[in-house]
Amino acid sequence: MSLAQDQPTPPRADTIFLHGNIYTGVAVASSFHAIQRVEAMAIRSDRIQDVGKESEILKLKGPETQIINLDNHFVMPGFNDAHLHLAHAGFQRLTVNLVGAKSLTEFRDRIRARVETAEPGEWIVGSGWDHTLWPVKELPSRWDIDEVSQNHPVFLQRVDGHIAVANTRALQLASVTLASKEPAGGKIDRDSSGQSTGILRETAREAVTGVIPKPSHDKRRQAIEAALRDLAQWGVTSAQDNSSWEDFQIYEEIQRDGKLTSRITEWLAFNDSLDTLQAHRSARPQSDNVLRTGMLKGFMDGSLGSKTAALLEPYADDPINSGLPQYEQAQLTQMTKERVGAGFQVGFHAIGDKGVQMALRTFDEAQKEAREKKIKAANGGNDYRLRIEHAQVTTPLQIAKFKELKVIASTQPNHLLTDMNWALDRLGPKRAAHSYAWAEFLKRGVPLAFGTDYPVEPVTPFRGLYAAVTRRSEDDKREYFPEQKISMEQAIAAYTTGSAFAEFSEKEKGTLAPGMLADFVVLDRDVTSVPPLKVLGTRVLRTVVGGKTVYEAN
Ligand SMILES: [Zn+2]
Ligand SMILES: [Zn+2]
Repeated sequence: MSLAQDQPTPPRADTIFLHGNIYTGVAVASSFHAIQRVEAMAIRSDRIQDVGKESEILKLKGPETQIINLDNHFVMPGFNDAHLHLAHAGFQRLTVNLVGAKSLTEFRDRIRARVETAEPGEWIVGSGWDHTLWPVKELPSRWDIDEVSQNHPVFLQRVDGHIAVANTRALQLASVTLASKEPAGGKIDRDSSGQSTGILRETAREAVTGVIPKPSHDKRRQAIEAALRDLAQWGVTSAQDNSSWEDFQIYEEIQRDGKLTSRITEWLAFNDSLDTLQAHRSARPQSDNVLRTGMLKGFMDGSLGSKTAALLEPYADDPINSGLPQYEQAQLTQMTKERVGAGFQVGFHAIGDKGVQMALRTFDEAQKEAREKKIKAANGGNDYRLRIEHAQVTTPLQIAKFKELKVIASTQPNHLLTDMNWALDRLGPKRAAHSYAWAEFLKRGVPLAFGTDYPVEPVTPFRGLYAAVTRRSEDDKREYFPEQKISMEQAIAAYTTGSAFAEFSEKEKGTLAPGMLADFVVLDRDVTSVPPLKVLGTRVLRTVVGGKTVYEAN
């Protein structure tokens, strides 16, 4: 910088991106729905230095500045997936993947293929099966799996992660017998003679999961790195993740090695003791924007697919069943008050309207007490940003309550692509009209965040965008309550600024504006202008996190 100049020279950009169709995510002040677009963007260190016209941005070019030509491609803020299970996604690659198996035969064939390469007596673990996709929509049994293997213990989780099936060998090792009692919050399905059929619901699965040996450290790390590659390839620059504390320590290791290619905010388990939670929270500074801990996740209920989501009225296709609530209200409120009182953000998995109601009641009381006691929220303010994860079945009154309490609806529009096959049967038309109610949430002014629930659904954000704007199946043949559609601009906002708000990071993430983190994606098409069906086939050309390219298509 020379003193002779009347204006100091701005520091030079590290990288300048030119000739782009850059969707900044920043609303144009003069217009309601328009989003500012620019041609060029300058990056310095891990931040956006400036955006604007090429002639302006090129003034930031120095002798060392790298210039990248975007060839008029569409650029948008990186996807912030507000709800996923990264480690689980990785382990799924080490296990039998049953996602999309179209029949009991295919289900068994995939298990057999794994059995053939396994060590003698080795556990065969897998997940992703969905009997509602099979010609005969019956749950598999232990006898179905015994036909494939009686020597290997086999344990297979359903796609929703709420029920599982075990073979006879696994049940023996887990000591699930005729005499086993039903655990609280779970159920062992039995035949007419009282024998377990192999189906274990909710907490009943713990008898088996408790005896499965854990994968080695190296295997865990390999699995997690594979899942991280998936994220980079799909343009997910931030992940709000529900894995274990052990997995978090592996993330730290990966970060130390400079290989963490997505920012991670790790959830802690709501049920852990306050001491444990505080110790885990203090493991890293909350200001760390690469890897830190975030909200506490608790479970109000199960899932609609397995009919364990808690409903106010019984299932339309199962009139004696209203699902399985996971807490008693008074105890839940007590625990939540304690945790919000200690400055934790809390998010509850709630899928059915009964689960949502439990969460809202408890949030109301916990928030009131925290305000009275002037408790500071995770960001130092008094806005606690309590969240409900999924919020699939809601009543209009509940949606009004979300707004009143400023509760965030953290939803996954891609779930609808799978669930529309049976959601109407489960719920009946009256309830279904207010399910997956994205338009209603936005109309009421409820903050909306989008994610995928990966690996329950694939991590691609483009299925979610497609579902949000069409409410149609991927083959374009079915439609589900189109009045709950939202616009592409709204869907992108939920996936970027909305998710950032849900993790207290809207000051750093979600838009491409000077000073924000340089997290963005270059796509092969402009998702705001192609026909919706074309959105499904979108490819990511480049993913940039903190100014560094972490993925480039070849
Ligand atoms: Zn969940
Ligand atoms: Zn989940």
